[in-house]
Amino acid sequence: MHTNLIESLKNTVGTLFIKPKIDVSKISKHALEIILSLQKNNYEAYIVGGAIRDILIDQNPKDFDIATSATPEQIRKLFKKSRIIGRRFKLVHVLDGRNIIEVSTFRAKPQEREIMANGVERDNAYGTLKEDAERRDFTSNSIYFNPTNKKLIDFYGGIDDIKNKQLAIIGIPEIRFQEDPVRILRAIRFAAKLDLSINSDITSIIHKNINLLENIPYSRLFDEVMKLFLTGHALKSVILFNKFNLSKKFFPVLQSTNPSTQAFLKQGLRDTDKRIHESKSVNPGFLLAVFLWRDVNEAWEKRKKVSINNTVALNTAIDFVLSKQSKIFPVQKRFIVTMSEIWRLQPRFKNLNPKRIYRLLGHPRFRAAYDFLLLRNRQGEIDNDLAQWWIKFVEADDKTKSILIKKTKKNG
Ligand code: ATP
Ligand code: MG
Repeated sequence: MHTNLIESLKNTVGTLFIKPKIDVSKISKHALEIILSLQKNNYEAYIVGGAIRDILIDQNPKDFDIATSATPEQIRKLFKKSRIIGRRFKLVHVLDGRNIIEVSTFRAKPQEREIMANGVERDNAYGTLKEDAERRDFTSNSIYFNPTNKKLIDFYGGIDDIKNKQLAIIGIPEIRFQEDPVRILRAIRFAAKLDLSINSDITSIIHKNINLLENIPYSRLFDEVMKLFLTGHALKSVILFNKFNLSKKFFPVLQSTNPSTQAFLKQGLRDTDKRIHESKSVNPGFLLAVFLWRDVNEAWEKRKKVSINNTVALNTAIDFVLSKQSKIFPVQKRFIVTMSEIWRLQPRFKNLNPKRIYRLLGHPRFRAAYDFLLLRNRQGEIDNDLAQWWIKFVEADDKTKSILIKKTKKNG
């Protein structure tokens, strides 16, 4: 075919790729079934977004987003176990046991800006596949895959950008970051995840617009910030976080220059990344406890001198640190309980009285507190004999456990 014709086709219908191939076995069966059923009913349907991006870099996607020409009501009618959610973005959750697949209708830029009663801009104008692609944030997130003919559709050169390790935003960067400042955090997350570099233009636009993050509703902001640290590339994210001066706004401790604090944080972040790469669960409360521990510990030491006992000193130190953090970027309540428990259990590891050992072992937060103790030990915060005793004890079977306890009784 004539090169010019290919070029003009690229401009009108986007680039149709047969290669690189997508490993369909990495796509959830449920997502494939949903696509098939939409297509059987004469709707267009594709997998788009994170899943395709992750398969292209040979990672296992964690969730699947489907884009279709069917409206939310039409999707809802096709799938018994589904519900329409969202107001700003109306989309459909199709359920399969505990798994949820997000199915959204192709969207276009809204014709007229419509602000709803809650101050959020409505964003429910439906459009074509091409318009849908244009509304997405980064080129790497705008790659569509049709599992029926195995073709990829990449209107904005996302595949090349991933290959060339460049983060590229669709449209005019200034406008796109202002339209939704959360894209700043997403830019950092994807740059860290895909090892993309952020060019100087985008860097300066991000710097210029960083204060717009202050207008984002707290819960959305909290979720996005936590995703930076809980999706397997926390260490790299922190480097970018500091580069854009974001630590100051969220967790000032992340920019600490104290070498021992830095080492402690790094270890916590590295462990979190490792757990995720091993497909183990991670507890956001644990990582947040790591973030704020050095502050708690310092405040605890100070209060020990003036409090009636250690426990009171620790509790007031915890209150102090959490209240300081809440003025900067409050931690969600549900994590505060976990964090405080992990911290409060730390001094209890020192007491090797048999009754107390078993009571501690039976505590619902024991495992997290024990992992936290090991982290502290690796940073030289704990008496190594004590830490080694706990490691032996935790790894032992019940019989050996009671022998170990008897021995401590004798020594004690
Ligand atoms: P992951 O699921 O790994 O966090 P993702 O790219 O799938 O990454 P989602 O938040 O699940 O992210 O969003 C799915 C897709 O929706 C994105 O890939 C992108 O195309 C689009 N999208 C999400 N958030 C935005 C946004 N703020 N602006 C524009 N497009 C967005
Ligand atoms: Mg996704």
